[in-house]
Amino acid sequence: IAARLRSSGLFRSQGLIGGQWIDAYDGRTIKVHNPANGEVIANVPLMSKRETDDAITSAYDAFKSWSKLTAADRSNRLRKWYQLLTTHKEQIGQLITLEQGKPLKESVGEINYGASFLEFFSEEAKRVYGDIISPTIADRRLFVLKQPVGVVGVITPWNFPLAMITRKVAPALACGCTVVIKPSELTPLTALAAAELSLQAGIPPGVVNVVMGDAPAIGDAILASTQVRKITFTGSTAVGKKLMAGAAGTVKRVSLELGGNAPHIVFDDADVDVAVKGVIASKFRNSGQTCVSANRILVQQGIYEKFCNAFSKAAQDLQVGDGFGEGVAQFFQGPLINEAAVQKVEKFLRDAITKGAKVVLGGKRHSLGMTFFEPTVIADVNSDMLLFREEVFGPVAPLLPFRTEEEAIGLANDANAGLAACVYTNNIQRSWRMAEALEYGMVGVNESLIATEVAPFGGIKQSGLGREGSKYGMDDYLELKYVCLGNM
Ligand code: ADP
Repeated sequence: IAARLRSSGLFRSQGLIGGQWIDAYDGRTIKVHNPANGEVIANVPLMSKRETDDAITSAYDAFKSWSKLTAADRSNRLRKWYQLLTTHKEQIGQLITLEQGKPLKESVGEINYGASFLEFFSEEAKRVYGDIISPTIADRRLFVLKQPVGVVGVITPWNFPLAMITRKVAPALACGCTVVIKPSELTPLTALAAAELSLQAGIPPGVVNVVMGDAPAIGDAILASTQVRKITFTGSTAVGKKLMAGAAGTVKRVSLELGGNAPHIVFDDADVDVAVKGVIASKFRNSGQTCVSANRILVQQGIYEKFCNAFSKAAQDLQVGDGFGEGVAQFFQGPLINEAAVQKVEKFLRDAITKGAKVVLGGKRHSLGMTFFEPTVIADVNSDMLLFREEVFGPVAPLLPFRTEEEAIGLANDANAGLAACVYTNNIQRSWRMAEALEYGMVGVNESLIATEVAPFGGIKQSGLGREGSKYGMDDYLELKYVCLGNM
């Protein structure tokens, strides 16, 4: 598969600066691995401050002309990029599975999702409006202009190697901003393939730049630059806090999409089939490696046993294997991203078991070896456990019983994170009360896969700042300018 991809022209393994494919200036490289078998797929440049500074200069220069194009012109090029991604979804999907491990079907799903932001924001590009305000002094006229923020630093994680980039870059480019992207070093190939297609789509050199390598050095160069006016990040809460603090030096605008700790709350009056299906899909998609994965499954006492049985049975039917394997099961689970991810899962499980939780299913590394892990269900979890307090980011489903709606709200909101939550109930009043009471940026009711390009994605509390997708997703990349015309 790697060989076929190499001949496709989409297998890029250099950085992109000012439209040129470039190695690290000192020639150093890092290896990219296939998590399913450990094979080295590519060597990519280990870049650092100097390359980043050059990428920033390119983006800064390109901003002058890109921001002056008509919105319709930018829109057409974004749409072309969308079409190219869609045309090449099989190849880029294979690239995602190769470097990230998720099942091919999920990879192609990610291309559809990732490309949808380019389509949506190609349309929104044409709908940036200003305002005219009634003056308080008769001979004045007051206007509000919306202008692109400028050069944007884009730092993204490995769990959605394409979508986390397009969700930021599409609105940025639509508004007239230019970008320096630093993808995760674990999954740079998808980013590079997407960047290649941006050039083919007629997005001018320097508008999209990609650097990778020494993440802290690249991050520091982006933060220190006065030419970069904004940083947008998806990743761990710890790194997000560092970037937010680092942005203070130049008072950059900051958008953050950080960790979640999603509660899924199943009430006695829920449809058990709907709840099981919803929690399974949310928990085991991408092997549990998403910021909106069900992390705490709160189940009301009257339905606890019934739900546990049905849920464990469904989890048992999950098939585990190489993402390129032909899954016969409805749900299919690939490897975790790396050894550290497996060790984190093991640590959380040990902690919970020591404190009295019971493993109902799985609980250990899969017999396939590498970083494959058994789909795991663990019951009688409580709020003292790491599984409750933090994101496990793996295929572990912790179940906790509760008695009343009030108790469920208390448990659900007992978290520093506030990204996504999900409620399963057939009581319409309760669903509305819960949606209002949950301290989360997104709430699903009887549906767990709620992300779409047309709705605002993002969190409150320590899950982040700003929203991605939807008409609101443009605001993060636009500055307001007040113009007063006086003495008329
Ligand atoms: P994850 O757990 O998803 O790997 P990280 O926050 O570690 O989350 O990584 C998300 C992105 O942040 C990656 O592109 C990573 O290389 C980058 N990153 C990690 N540390 C830093 C840093 N100190 N400065 C800038 N970027 C960083």
